[in-house]
Amino acid sequence: MSHADWEAVIGLEVHCQLSTNSKIFSGAAIAYGAEPNTQACPIDLGMPGVLPVLNGDAVKKAVTFGLSVDAEIARRCVFARKHYFYPDLPKGYQISQYELPIVANGHLDIELEDGPNSVTVKRIGITRAHMEEDAGKSLHENFSGSTGIDLNRAGTPLIEIVSEPDIRSAAEAVAYLKKLHQLVVYLGICDGNMQEGSFRCDANVSVRRRGTEKFGTRTETKNVNSFRYVEKAIEYEIERQIEVIEAGGTIVQETRLFNPDTGETRAMRSKENANDYRYFPDPDLLPVVCTEDYIDAIRSSLPELPEAKRARFVSVFGLSDYDAKTLTSSRELAAYYEAVVAASGAEPKLCANWIATDLLGALNKLGKDIGESPIGADAFAGLLKRMVDKTISGKIAKDVFEAMLAGEGSADDIIQAKGLVQITDESAIIAAIDDVIAKNPQQLADFRAGKDRLFGFFVGQAMKATQGKANPDALNRLLKEKLK
Ligand code: ADP
Ligand code: MG
Repeated sequence: MSHADWEAVIGLEVHCQLSTNSKIFSGAAIAYGAEPNTQACPIDLGMPGVLPVLNGDAVKKAVTFGLSVDAEIARRCVFARKHYFYPDLPKGYQISQYELPIVANGHLDIELEDGPNSVTVKRIGITRAHMEEDAGKSLHENFSGSTGIDLNRAGTPLIEIVSEPDIRSAAEAVAYLKKLHQLVVYLGICDGNMQEGSFRCDANVSVRRRGTEKFGTRTETKNVNSFRYVEKAIEYEIERQIEVIEAGGTIVQETRLFNPDTGETRAMRSKENANDYRYFPDPDLLPVVCTEDYIDAIRSSLPELPEAKRARFVSVFGLSDYDAKTLTSSRELAAYYEAVVAASGAEPKLCANWIATDLLGALNKLGKDIGESPIGADAFAGLLKRMVDKTISGKIAKDVFEAMLAGEGSADDIIQAKGLVQITDESAIIAAIDDVIAKNPQQLADFRAGKDRLFGFFVGQAMKATQGKANPDALNRLLKEKLK
């Protein structure tokens, strides 16, 4: 049987760290990278007699997420204790939500490129998103033979976002994750830093013969923290499962670990069932009640979401869908673009070309993102302004741009210092043209005899004679007149 006879079924669970100032049930800080065990207080550790108090900002961020994916927000939800033993969980239980999560029944639309210039939209269901606390971390390096425990992360607020098993390939899984990642960063509820573990994914994968209804047995690959690893882990798992079944074996429901060095997954433990966790409502925490007013207030303060922004960039600025997508890929980039359009007075399309091509290209080479751009939006607008008022040509503007990137100052400083002001004085341009024509009698004769493409030669020579400073429109027009 070939692989074309098989279909993958995938559901993702994403743990997303909420960017609150303090922990979900205590006042301890959650800043990443602090000295081990300096940011965990008795509440995070569940010491006897302590009482957790829910962080209101975490609830607000969870509701913000739910509204952005058209989900239902529970009017009343409950925290539950999920019991398991692990050294990085000294309490012996994690406070999570079980039967009554705060968010349920949402969806996210992903775009799939199924050919050049062909995109289909697919809706992925979001079963639920619940609030919970993160555990600490076990450190296996630098402790020769022992394991270090850092409890700084214990009690960090998370939402776990659980998708329906609607995903059918590794590529769809990556498209879903990227979309979700973009969304939570846009919403300002998560910093999105995948290396630091702020956004990590468990991938549930099963396979079934094409045409069958029933799902196969799934495995769950834990804590994959980059888009590329998710893709590799899922692809590996699909292959592995097909091979096992075709060889007459059966898939065991289990938890697996992905090894980035080999690109393989391996069994970690057999899958626990919900009843192994002995869930029960946490008696120390009150149910959370979200009133209509509370939800409405959050709804009305939602920022413009990526899709709406993209549609607006197309309709208001007349951009292509492609450019609009690029420029709205992050909220910061979109704000930069809008600031440049407003401050430069240049055509929105011109601004888009410069930012999407020149600026993003340069930043990419520097390995920086828009927030670290050596040229701020105002400075960038200053450059485009000098093109709009024809002080410099588009060609010279590229040189000024390079100089700005190199930190040589503002566009005006550079234009001044390098004497780059465009020549619009027609008599100076005519003088350059006359000179070039006089020096190239052979080319002139050939041009007159019908070699039209020599026109470009004269443009080039005259431009060179003015050190590239001649106004290109004027130069073209005057040259045409001369060569008539
Ligand atoms: P648990 O909490 O034990 O991991 P859930 O029922 O909450 O189990 O499901 C977790 C994830 O697994 C969800 O994203 C769901 O879509 C996905 N899933 C469920 N069944 C399958 C299956 N047969 N194949 C692939 N994914 C599945
Ligand atoms: Mg799970």
